[in-house]
Amino acid sequence: MGTWHLNGVVLPDGERRDLWIHDGVITFEPVAGAQTLTTGVWITPGLVDAHCHIGLGASGAVDHATAEAQAIIDRNSGVLLVRDAGAPADTHWIDERADLPRIIRAGRHIARPKRYIRNFAIEIDPSEMVEEVSRQAHSGDGWVKLVGDWIDREVGDLAPLWPAEIAKQAIDAVHAVGARVTAHCFAEQSVAELVAAGIDCIEHGTGMSDEVIEMMAANDVALVPTMTNLVNFPKFAAAGAERFPTYAAHMRDLHARRLDTLGRAREAGVQIYCGTDAGGTLGHGRVAQEAQMLAELGGNDFALGAIGWDARTWLGAQNLVEGAPADLVCWFVDPRQELSTLHDPALVVLRGEPVSR
Ligand SMILES: [Zn+2]
Repeated sequence: MGTWHLNGVVLPDGERRDLWIHDGVITFEPVAGAQTLTTGVWITPGLVDAHCHIGLGASGAVDHATAEAQAIIDRNSGVLLVRDAGAPADTHWIDERADLPRIIRAGRHIARPKRYIRNFAIEIDPSEMVEEVSRQAHSGDGWVKLVGDWIDREVGDLAPLWPAEIAKQAIDAVHAVGARVTAHCFAEQSVAELVAAGIDCIEHGTGMSDEVIEMMAANDVALVPTMTNLVNFPKFAAAGAERFPTYAAHMRDLHARRLDTLGRAREAGVQIYCGTDAGGTLGHGRVAQEAQMLAELGGNDFALGAIGWDARTWLGAQNLVEGAPADLVCWFVDPRQELSTLHDPALVVLRGEPVSR
C-alpha cells in the first residue's frame, strides 16, 4: 500500500490542509516518505449514490463483466459508496475488489406478480411478504427494498402493491432484525400508507402530501427523489397513454408538480439524498447531473451534502476525519462555487489508493 500526501481545501470544513494516507486511512499528522499525489485541489469524501443498481440491466440481471463495468463508471464519477436499491444479480464478489466502490445492498426488489418491470423483482403474494422481507434482510446489507406502487392494469392507474396492514407487519419484521426498509413510491396512497407504517426511506416520493411530509420530517424518514429519473415521467405516461389514460394523466400531474412537492419536503426538513437510479434503462455515472438538479431544490451546499457528507453520515460511513478510510475525491475548482466541476474529478482515491485521474 502506498503512503500518500495531498494538499487542498478539505470539505465540508473548507480549510486548506495537508492530508496524508497511510495503511489506507487518513491522517493529518505528517507521514515520513509520503509521495505527494496532488496539491491546490478541493477534497471531498467519496460521493454517494443512494439509489443505484449494480448488476441490473434493461432486461434484468447482467453478467459479471457488465456489472464490473457499471461499478467502474460509478467509481470514476467519484461515487465510492453505493446503496444498491435492489439487484437481481449476486454482486457480493465486488466486496473482494479493492478497486470497486463499497456497496450497501438491499437484496432484491420485492413486488407482486406483473406489478413491476419484468425480471427485476422477486414476485410474491402479499401473504408471503413477511417471510420474504426477512429473507431479503438477511441477504442484504441492512436494507430491504419494496416496490410500493406501480400501475394496476385492472384499475388503470398507479396503486399500492401491499395491503397497509401487511406492509406494517413486514416493516416491523425487518426492524426486528435490525435492518431498514425503503420503497419505490410514485403516487399518493402508497407513500402515505408506508410512512404511517414506519418505513425508513422513500424512493421518488412524488406523491407526498403536506401531511406525509410532516410525518417524514418528524420520524426521520429519508427521501431519495432520483431527480434525473423523474424527468422521464412524461415518457412513461406516453407509453401507457392509449390503454391507460388515467395512469398517463396521473404520471404527468406528478411530474408537473414534482419540484413543488420536493421543495416542500426540503423546506419541512426531510433529509434528502442523492440517487441516480442507474441500472435498468438508466446509465451509470450521472451523479453530477443529479447534483445539479438537487441544487435547484436547495442550493449548492445542500446538493453537495446530499451527494457527499450528509449521505455518508446517514449510511454510517465516515467523512474526512483522522483515522477514517481514505475514500476521497479531488476537484479542480471549488464545487461549492462551480457544481459543474463534478463532471470531471481531478483524482479519485479509494481505500487509500489512487484509482482514477
Ligand atoms: Zn431504482
